[in-house]
Amino acid sequence: MSHIGIVGAGMAGAGAADALSAAGVDVTILEKSRGVGGRAATRRRNNCRYDHGANYVKGDDDGRTSGLVHELGEAGLVELADPVWTFGGDGEITASERDAETKYTWEAGITQFAKRLLARTDAEVRTSVRVASLARGDGWTATDETGDEHGPFDAVLLTPPAPQTADLLESTDWRGGWEEGALESLREAADAVPYRTIRTVVLNYGFELDVPWYGAVNTDDDHPVGWLSREECKPGHVPDGQTLLVAQMSPDWSVDHYDDDLADAADAAAARVATLVGDDRLREYDWADDQGWRYALPDEAADPSERAIERAREAGLFLAGDWVAGDGRVHEAVWNGVSVGEAMADRVE
Ligand SMILES: Cc1cc2nc3c(=O)[nH]c(=O)nc-3n(C[C@H](O)[C@H](O)[C@H](O)COP(=O)(O)OP(=O)(O)OC[C@H]3O[C@@H](n4cnc5c(N)ncnc54)[C@H](O)[C@@H]3O)c2cc1C
Repeated sequence: MSHIGIVGAGMAGAGAADALSAAGVDVTILEKSRGVGGRAATRRRNNCRYDHGANYVKGDDDGRTSGLVHELGEAGLVELADPVWTFGGDGEITASERDAETKYTWEAGITQFAKRLLARTDAEVRTSVRVASLARGDGWTATDETGDEHGPFDAVLLTPPAPQTADLLESTDWRGGWEEGALESLREAADAVPYRTIRTVVLNYGFELDVPWYGAVNTDDDHPVGWLSREECKPGHVPDGQTLLVAQMSPDWSVDHYDDDLADAADAAAARVATLVGDDRLREYDWADDQGWRYALPDEAADPSERAIERAREAGLFLAGDWVAGDGRVHEAVWNGVSVGEAMADRVE
């Protein structure tokens, strides 16, 4: 039986593992974090749960994502039906029909998407394994940062964000008939993908906030807060009587404050949030948390030559992720992973 190695247990990695497993291919996933889901991330703290990366999964146009989400189990599935409200640089939050379609998360958090997908596969997931280099000899092997080797695999799939994939391509030994120009074309294309940086600041309060929206998004890129949402609107996330705000700060603000201490960043973000919501109590939070996402959202798709992708595939090297699909969305990452997984299954069978 063929054996595939996947670097990254985010949504693209999980989607690919699902397609490969369904085709009867053995899969081993190497993931640098302790858990799965990648940027579709959930954290637990002080009896609260919060989705501090992707806030929800969008049901896409043809119902394919909704179908998959329901197929993975109704228990604990959360549907957010209310539209996301909007605000501009003037900070006035108003009702909108934007994102009126159903949005999904789970009572146990958005990581459930990757967990549930992987649970129905036979994939072996090796967590806390950061791949440092790859080599192609008789098969593909991946060496992690402790020097341990994983493989050999008949083919490998790389799913980290484009700049991290470019680093891996840089640290790859291409013996075995690889054509150098194709590798360079792939690496350059990955390296050239522009990203937005987002620092997420999480603010908890010991009172309930009386506003009509679950989430509000800045629509003109002219406000220091890019996205603001209330995790208490998701069942199972926040104890009654509390408010937990997820503030995804704008790329400009995030770059300026990326290395600030949590306390300083939280104070500055809370002041912006209090002004935006028009509630001065929000300046004083009970506790705060944060996450810097240096490679939060790709601004466009990678553009390697068709020939480079085809030559890489012939050598058993595949790429997937939101940056390959061209849109920083959970469902785009999943379906890109699925389609690349299907192509891999065809290739190795
Ligand atoms: C703040 C924020 C808000 C967002 N909001 C939304 C939203 O509301 N709705 C939505 O649909 N999308 C949203 N997105 C986008 C969405 O999260 C991503 O498009 C999607 O999760 C990308 O999945 P992926 O599998 O392509 O990449 P990732 O999730 O980045 O997965 C890559 C995986 O590879 C692992 N990895 C990296 N390098 C290595 C290595 N060397 N060795 C081993 N493992 C490695 C990483 O740890 C990670 O688990 C948001 C993203 C951010 C950051």
